[in-house]
Amino acid sequence: MRSFFLWSLVASLNVVHAEGGATKTKQLVIYTSRAEYLLKPLLDRYTARHGVKFRYMKGKAAALVQKLISEGKNTQADLLMTVDAGNLWFAAQNKLLRPLKSKQLEASVPQHLRAADLSWVGLSVRARTIVYSTERVKTQALSSYEDLADKKWRGKLCLRTAKKVYNRSLVAMLLEVHGVKPTEAILKGWVNNLAAPVFPSDTKVIEAIKAGQCDLGIVNTYYLGRLLKKDPAYPVRIFWPNQSSYGVHVNISGAGIVRHSKNYQAALAFLEWLSQGEAQRMFADLNLEYPLASKAARNAIVQGWGDFKASNLSLSRIGALQKDAIKVMDRAGYR
Ligand code: FE
Repeated sequence: MRSFFLWSLVASLNVVHAEGGATKTKQLVIYTSRAEYLLKPLLDRYTARHGVKFRYMKGKAAALVQKLISEGKNTQADLLMTVDAGNLWFAAQNKLLRPLKSKQLEASVPQHLRAADLSWVGLSVRARTIVYSTERVKTQALSSYEDLADKKWRGKLCLRTAKKVYNRSLVAMLLEVHGVKPTEAILKGWVNNLAAPVFPSDTKVIEAIKAGQCDLGIVNTYYLGRLLKKDPAYPVRIFWPNQSSYGVHVNISGAGIVRHSKNYQAALAFLEWLSQGEAQRMFADLNLEYPLASKAARNAIVQGWGDFKASNLSLSRIGALQKDAIKVMDRAGYR
């Protein structure tokens, strides 16, 4: 596997002295798959508040996990920050993350959005939901993920590739709710209803709906949020499915402390900071996601989508079902 890593030194000009009780660690190293513009403002804020600087290495989640495996106890990494419980669960399975002791994280991060041993924790919540053309779909026709398998949607559905962990986690949820056979039938229905070959990104799915190639799809809401930010009249909208059953599939962006980190206390203090207060507001706002606490302030675009019932299925369980999800997607012809 070829992988590309990029070291970035986050230099901050307005470093202040560490506040009372802060640790002696002056630098933390983060391995991350997150885009720089989503991460750097948070790191800069923490540097300004607590005097700890950061170095981060960017790469795809799977490549970063492989790097941590090969580096073993010689790694420089203190934290792994990435998206989707599937990725974090996989890192934890490979014993790359350190179980944590933190009353504060236990209080800030809802139980279903973290590992039981706190080896990884969610830091923002993302909803994977149905989006539809405002020109061609009446919301009364929409109801659930399962309903997208109905033949009334033949030739009208767009989906992202089954290779993306987001879809594997969504299917893992269906497996947990319905079991194998019914999930396979739902996925076959989706595949039968496809208007076009699967797309490489959520944004491409939304653009295909706008272009009239299909009428509806399943995406993470922040991708539509980005398009709506540029064009408030963008003719695609959010629908919250399964509101009378298990709720909308939610996942996380999150982090864990690397098992061989030499800066455990400082890394933990940073994670605790991320999980509450101003960091939560920034974290959710930067990517138009949801904060961990449902009552925390939301971005105006996100607020406009209204409240919804979210699934509270354990993301650890969804991590454990990734392999089964891959198999059932393959059997159903969802590639
Ligand atoms: Fe994403």
